[in-house]
Formats: sequence, C-alpha cells, structure tokens
Amino acid sequence: MGSYFAVRLSIFLHWLYVFASSAAATGADLAILRSQLSPDASVSWTTSIAPRWSDYDAPKPTAIINVAVEKDVQTTIQFCNSRSIPYLVQNGAHGSSTTLGQLAHNGVIINLAALNRVTFNADKTLVSLEGGTLMSEMIQSAYSNSALVLSGTCNCIGYLGALLGGGFGYLIGQYGLMLDNVVSLNVVLASGQAISVTPSDDEDKYDESLWWAMRGAGPNFGAVTSAVVKSYPVDSNSLNAWLGPLLFEDTQLDTLIQTMNDITLEPEMAMSLTFASSGNASASPSIILTVFYHGTEAQGKAAFAPIYKIGPVADETTITAYPNWNAAQDISCVKGGNKPSFGAGLAELEAESWKAVYDAYKNFILHPEAQESVILLSAYPTAQIKSIPDASTAYPFRSTVRFNAQASLAWNDSSFDASALAFGTFCRDKWRLSSGLKENSTYINNAFGDESLTTVYGQSLGRLQDLKRIYDPHGRFNYWFPLDGN
Ligand SMILES: Cc1cc2nc3c(=O)[nH]c(=O)nc-3n(C[C@H](O)[C@H](O)[C@H](O)COP(=O)(O)OP(=O)(O)OC[C@H]3O[C@@H](n4cnc5c(N)ncnc54)[C@H](O)[C@@H]3O)c2cc1C
Repeated sequence: MGSYFAVRLSIFLHWLYVFASSAAATGADLAILRSQLSPDASVSWTTSIAPRWSDYDAPKPTAIINVAVEKDVQTTIQFCNSRSIPYLVQNGAHGSSTTLGQLAHNGVIINLAALNRVTFNADKTLVSLEGGTLMSEMIQSAYSNSALVLSGTCNCIGYLGALLGGGFGYLIGQYGLMLDNVVSLNVVLASGQAISVTPSDDEDKYDESLWWAMRGAGPNFGAVTSAVVKSYPVDSNSLNAWLGPLLFEDTQLDTLIQTMNDITLEPEMAMSLTFASSGNASASPSIILTVFYHGTEAQGKAAFAPIYKIGPVADETTITAYPNWNAAQDISCVKGGNKPSFGAGLAELEAESWKAVYDAYKNFILHPEAQESVILLSAYPTAQIKSIPDASTAYPFRSTVRFNAQASLAWNDSSFDASALAFGTFCRDKWRLSSGLKENSTYINNAFGDESLTTVYGQSLGRLQDLKRIYDPHGRFNYWFPLDGN
C-alpha cells in the first residue's frame, strides 16, 4: 500500500510541475494563432468543444484548433511551444485513458478531423490516408476500390489512433496488426519539424528508431498528419465474410471458455465474447460469441465446429459485405458519459476466473447505472503477428498475448464512480491472476491509465524512454501513457 501511495504522489508531483511550467492559452493567443492558420482552419472556443467518446477524466482544453492542412499542425505546434501552451492531437476522440485528463483547462486540442482524405494507388496495393481519417471512412473507400485494408472492428474510432498503439481487426490472421501494414508516416515532431518516417537499412539512422517507436507508442512522439498503408486488392467474393453472433446460456459458459482457449484459429478466423445486459434486471446477462470467417458460410461453420458442438441457443451468422462487418458495433459509437476501460492481455483462459467475472458482472448490472457496461474478450489467430520479430516494432506483446480482455464500463452519474471503478479493478485483477503470463500486460489502447509503464510498453520501455529524450525532450506529447510517468 505504501508504495502505491508513493507512486501516486510522484505522479501528482510530476503533473504539478508540468502544469506549473505551462501557460494557459488566452483569447489573444488564439486570435494570433488563428491569423497564422490556413483559410479553412478554425478555432472553437470552450463553449463548443467537440464531444468525446468518454467524459471520464477526459481532456478539458481551452479551445480546439481545427486544422485544415499539415502546415496548420506545424504552425500550431510551433506557436504553442513558443508560449508553453500544452496541446493534444485528436483523431477519432475515442481514447479513454485517464492520462488524457492531464490536459486540463490550459491547453488546446489539435483536431485532425478535416484531414480525412483517403487515396488508393493505381493497382490498389497502397493507400494514403490523412491523420484524421476514421475507420468507417477507410473501410468505405477500400470497398469502393475493391480492396481490403486492415481495420478495427468499430467504425467510429480513429484509424491512426488505433494503429499507433497496435490495431486489432478481423483480418489480423491474414495480414497482421494494423501497424504491421504501415509503409510510411508523415509526422510533425515536437520541434514543429515535419518529417517522413520510413524503414531504413541504416540501423544508426535516427529515423529508423522513430520508425520502430511510432509503431506501438506513436502518440508519444509526434502528430501523424498522413500515412501510407498496405492494401489488398481482392475479387468481389472476398469483399464478403461470414460473421455474426452465437448466443449461449450461463450453464454453457465453462465449456465455451475452455473451447475458446483450445480451438486453433485459422488465419481467416476471429472471435469475440461479450457479456451484456439483456435489459431485464432479473434475467441473466447475455453471453454472445461473435464469430468471423473470411470465406463462405460452410467454411466458417466447419472452422468453428468445436464452438457449434457446445450448442448455441441462437445463431444469427450470415454472409456480410465488408462495409457492414462492423455494423453491430455501431451501437457503441454513442459519445459522452463515463466510459473508461480496464483491460488485460492473456496467454490463456481459465474457466473459473471467467465464471467469477460473469457472476460479478451479473451482480454489477443489477444497478441501473451499469446497464451499458460490457465485458469483452477478443481472440485472433496469432501466427501472422508472431511471424514478425518482437523487436521490429515497439508493440510489445506479439509472442505472448493470445487474448485481450476488457471491462468496458459506461455510466453517467458520478455517485456511481467508485462502484464502477471497483468492478473494473476486480475484473482486471481476476484476469491478471489467471493470464498465464509472467508479467501483467494490457493493450495500450484498452488501458485505464493507472497501469505501470511496463504493463503497457513491456520490454520496449527503456528504448522508448531513450528515444523520447531525443525527439521530445520537453514532453510536449505527454498525454498518452507518458514515458516519464510511473
Ligand atoms: C468503441 C470502441 C471500439 C474499439 N475497437 C477497437 C478495435 O476494433 N481495434 C483496436 O485496435 N482498437 C479498438 N479500440 C481502441 C482504440 O484503438 C483506442 O480507443 C484508440 O485510442 C482510439 O483512437 P481515436 O483516434 O479514436 O482516439 P483519440 O482520442 O483521438 O486518440 C487516442 C490517442 O492517440 C493519439 N492520436 C490519435 N491520432 C493521432 C495522430 N494522427 N497522430 C498522433 N497521435 C494521434 C491521440 O493524441 C491520443 O493520445 C476501440 C475503442 C472503442 C472506444
């Protein structure tokens, strides 16, 4: 307990120092900045801050700078640096880490939303996207070009916001993580310099290290204004997949968890388990397994035969076109309310722990405030991710993690804060104790914000901290699991 408070105290003192050494953006500052931006850029004042997905410990900026071209990002960063005004880059605004809340009242958000152009090359093997592109914008554009691009399973999240920390999606078994598909990144550094970050054979070249660091810890090193990623041209059949929910009863949970642990996922497969309120407080929570197979219904049902053997009580799987793969998750795109997430990476699933989480969830959702909270467990084939050496990107958990578990909480009334956080912590503790891993790990994009840095950056931490001293010595990009934190 003593060391816990010592850590919290050191974080508090760190942020006190950061806050004291930064300046509030005044109206006069922002009027000058506005005059230096391109004609299509704008500044929104506090009264019109764009809603974020989660309000819990969300950033509280003085203003939003809506940039229109890459030069606006450079101008804003240089201007803010010259006046010690803090800034935070925003893509889809779905980041829910409590570390974002450290942008409090004296800073600005650099909103990339208008930078959302997506352009395919002639043979559809590469796609250029700007830094504010949303997942839905990428998927729609890829579909129109008869191509598949690695994408997350939720339409409203930012493409680069997801990619810079990893990027999990249905096609991971075939093409790897989103960050494994990057070809180049255009980045505005903390100095305001705009550079292109690409792979290089020269091990000593600075940019080579940045190439490593951006893919796993990107938000700590700069603002990505655009990127080129791989795209996979396919025939019209391959623009479809078989997917959908299978429903199970609570008496089947043990077998389901054991089967999810034991089943070998082929590259075309993915699955995710959800516990959700059925909307009836006296009824058991719904147990929904979403299965995905990039192929036909017959292939999908054969591949998931061990799951079908358990006997789902309902089956709503169907052949679905690429733009609709994420449709079931659109319900999760509603912005506002408190929605932090407690996550854990797992090497294995222990039925007993999952039963304990299910029972606790059943009890938790008796409270009306907890109805929208869900438990999620994602499983992807790992062979493709593991085929890339651990040390080639800063993403730390290639060879160890098979599953990402997450308590995705949602409530409105602040009187429920303590109960919600206690439940999230309980779930995370249960998963950590049964993870089958030597060290705790959490996919950074699902983390709450109180994790130790090794829990989110793993073995990459030391090298990342060295690079941070080179590229961002004043800690300008310090709102996403800052590398000089605990
Ligand atoms: C409903 C929901 C569904 C999700 N589904 C998936 C999924 O299927 N797969 C998956 O991998 N993850 C998923 N996530 C996690 C998601 O990857 C993270 O929430 C991610 O941080 C969201 O990025 P954003 O751009 O929407 O958020 P933001 O809050 O805009 O950004 C998050 C962080 O990234 C930084 N950042 C964003 N864009 C840039 C940029 N261009 N340059 C530099 N820094 C940048 C921001 O400064 C911030 O620190 C999901 C999250 C939610 C809430």
